[in-house]
Amino acid sequence: MLLSAFLDSELVAKPFVCVLGYPVSHSRSPAIHNAALAYHGIPVQYHAVACPTAEFHLIPGLFALPGFKGSNVTIPLKEKIVSLLDALEDTARRIGAVNTIVPDARDGLLTGYNTDVYGFMKPLERLGNIASATILGTGGAARAATAGLIESGCKSIYLVSRTYRKHEMATMNPDVVRLVTYDDLEQAIRGSDLLVNTTPVGMHPDRDRSPVQERLVPLLKQKICYDIIYNPAETKLLQQARHEGAQVIGGLDMFLYQAARSFELWFGKAMPMGLVRDVVAASLDENGAAV
Ligand code: NAP
Repeated sequence: MLLSAFLDSELVAKPFVCVLGYPVSHSRSPAIHNAALAYHGIPVQYHAVACPTAEFHLIPGLFALPGFKGSNVTIPLKEKIVSLLDALEDTARRIGAVNTIVPDARDGLLTGYNTDVYGFMKPLERLGNIASATILGTGGAARAATAGLIESGCKSIYLVSRTYRKHEMATMNPDVVRLVTYDDLEQAIRGSDLLVNTTPVGMHPDRDRSPVQERLVPLLKQKICYDIIYNPAETKLLQQARHEGAQVIGGLDMFLYQAARSFELWFGKAMPMGLVRDVVAASLDENGAAV
């Protein structure tokens, strides 16, 4: 529902949390958060609220409503929303992007968090320290991945972009991050323990596409290959990597863990992971995907 229509609706009369972005109709966040809210018996509803650029000015009105209990933020607002907040938690400040907003229960002051970093790192925990990585793409998810890897001690990151434009993660961390193009992908993969795809290449409905050329696939042997796309659960890239004997990680865990952290920040309760995993898995073959 458009933000303007949402503000005019009866939905705002009751306690609510939401995801703000554009587009958001495909989001699986309402399904998993509403399942978790029902599980805990919390009388709050989670809504997907579409906010095109022309409606950005309406957001402060949404945040000021008595029923507003918090929000997720997704493309294209993760950076722009920062200007409307009172405070940023450390990780969100460092990468300049917010995906979760928490209002203070007493005075309504708004703090921005970035739970994508936590969500991204969680599936890597069991694999020990990652010393070197190649990240495909330079958008918001790549920033979260870069920040998480640097925080966990990663010493070398190739950030692979289609264009050779300056990227702030590279300029902020010149000792660790090298910005390269796809012409350098072979060298980058050879020099990395981990390959991460943060581009949309391979996402439903383009399931037959991979961001890595066929001739480079054998280099993934004995590497860790992490695709943050979660629809399909195993992308073409992951199929190729698994075939070569790589350890593979899909994007569903990242999605669930970033949501779990948001839920804890808003309600102080753990998300029932088994339940919400089933909710997403049941919906995945139906149509398009994203956070
Ligand atoms: P974004 O800000 O749009 O960034 C995507 C980046 O990928 C772009 O900056 C671009 O980098 C590159 N790219 C875009 N189109 C491409 C193409 N056709 N071919 C090659 N590279 C391309 O998006 P994002 O927020 O980072 O999200 C990226 C993906 O991650 C989406 O598929 C999203 O659904 C997924 N995601 C998953 C989770 C999760 O929880 N699992 C969380 C966040 C995002 P260059 O221009 O530098 O090449």
